[in-house]
Amino acid sequence: MSPPTLFVSHGSPTVALDPTPAHRFLRELGTRLGRPRAIFCVSAHWETARPALTASPRPATLHDFHGFPEALYRLRYPAPGAPELAREVADLLAAAGLAAELDPERGLDHGAWVPLLLIYPQADIPVVQLSLQTALGPAHHRRLGEILAPLRARDVLILGSGALTHDLADVLGRLRAGATATSDPPPAWARAFAGWVRDVLARGDLEALVDYRRKAPGAGRAHPTEEHFLPLLVAAAAGGGRGTCLHESFEYGSLAMSVYAFPAA
Ligand code: ZN
Repeated sequence: MSPPTLFVSHGSPTVALDPTPAHRFLRELGTRLGRPRAIFCVSAHWETARPALTASPRPATLHDFHGFPEALYRLRYPAPGAPELAREVADLLAAAGLAAELDPERGLDHGAWVPLLLIYPQADIPVVQLSLQTALGPAHHRRLGEILAPLRARDVLILGSGALTHDLADVLGRLRAGATATSDPPPAWARAFAGWVRDVLARGDLEALVDYRRKAPGAGRAHPTEEHFLPLLVAAAAGGGRGTCLHESFEYGSLAMSVYAFPAA
């Protein structure tokens, strides 16, 4: 059976340790999903001009964040890589006219390993990452998802990792005012944007999703920059467009922690 594709909002790196509702949900998700042969991840935290794939047999754990508690920097996610899968995906991309580079040095960024640490804590399923091309926008990332879709039939779990809303200035402002992950209720703009996405994905309307900056309420506020939204385009397109919201919560007020599975169960 093909695994679903997933979109996970990875939130703050602290979700790895803080027992918030999203943390608890992710801790149980691996059991629900079962065990795929490999995990293919597209994260908000790896952006390159042209597609690149991790090709190390032992990708390092990247602590690509600053100013967080020391305990986070001690966490490791020692999952193996899958260089042969990276090469196969490079071939799929090449067949679609997209040249991709294999990067034997690159490790797993926190957008990949923080949710995986909760979903598959044994870290024994091979992981490959594909980079984002943020400047190429939503249509390009929808196309990436369509190119990757055949991986599902080969028992590869496609995981998009970003954030359903991501106004970092808003979050930092709340932190300076003493907010914790669960102290502030979500503002109306964040709830409206999350609700719009939920409706669009329930309909499987990929056209609307690609055009979200014009169509969704508060899109510019929810995503001052696009990199945390684009992994959703990849996951949704790889899974056929129609998605089920498995989890919805907010941390630090405006940071939506939504998790989606495609296709709808
Ligand atoms: Zn992030």
